[in-house]
Amino acid sequence: MIPLGPRDPGPVRPDRARLPAHPITRFAPAPTGHLHLGHLVNVVYVWGIARATGGRVILRIEDHDRERSRRAFETALLDDLERLGLGPDAPTIAELRAGRSAYRQSDDLAPYAAAVETLRSQGRVYGCTCSRTRLLAWRGPGCPGGCRERGLPDDAPGSALRAWLGEGQERFDDLLLGPQAGDPSADGDLTLRDRDGNWSYPLCVVVDDTRHGVDLVIRGRDLLNATPRQLRLGRLLGRTTPPAFLHHPLLRKPTGAKLSKADGDTALRDLLDGGATPAELLGFAAAAAGLADSVHSIPAASVGDLFKP
Ligand SMILES: [Zn+2]
Repeated sequence: MIPLGPRDPGPVRPDRARLPAHPITRFAPAPTGHLHLGHLVNVVYVWGIARATGGRVILRIEDHDRERSRRAFETALLDDLERLGLGPDAPTIAELRAGRSAYRQSDDLAPYAAAVETLRSQGRVYGCTCSRTRLLAWRGPGCPGGCRERGLPDDAPGSALRAWLGEGQERFDDLLLGPQAGDPSADGDLTLRDRDGNWSYPLCVVVDDTRHGVDLVIRGRDLLNATPRQLRLGRLLGRTTPPAFLHHPLLRKPTGAKLSKADGDTALRDLLDGGATPAELLGFAAAAAGLADSVHSIPAASVGDLFKP
């Protein structure tokens, strides 16, 4: 197994009393590469907490980015989950394999367009012609070109759609990290649709978590800073009770960078093909996340035990 860097600081196991009863949570990979050990930590948390609390796991295929998503990667991730012995409660893997699904973003884009119309009716949507490079470097409000004030047509070719989420802080109580606060507009206005016409990750995830009834979002700490704007967006789109959030530690390389799809030697299918058993891989992920004191095999049916008192 690959060498890992030090773990993110802070608690790794939520206070059982604070977990929602019978939550609906989700595993929501983007089919832009193979599942790797970093995903497996998320799998351990998602399935483990759902099994420990009598909750349900939704599997959502986040293929909103049409340029980077591949159906072959979706097939591979379904294969990997089956090999691990961890099936979702909805939809079933067989249903996803069979064809169109309300849990595959590319199969029904209407909910995202409808959400944008809601934001448009609130006067929040504008066209933005700023380049990707300028946007990536931008840390101020709005966008670098001040496009919201320019009144550009928002359907011009090559322009992105952005939304102003308004002022003020959003607060939430992370189930691992405690009270958090952030300004949804601090890092610039939210991208709804990129210049190539793809609906954005934050738009799709907020729309889908709402329509799929997700009330517990379990994900890696790299998305902690994205939460205030997703909370605000959900409220603007009419969600009255926000989901609970749990941001867990990430597996990191010795350099401190998080594991990524580019780290080919950590792909689950390669490790399984190489002879590792699902229980060994789940045990490795649990130990690496700090959920187990030592590396030992954990059968898929026992991941819930990691979160029981
Ligand atoms: Zn702009």
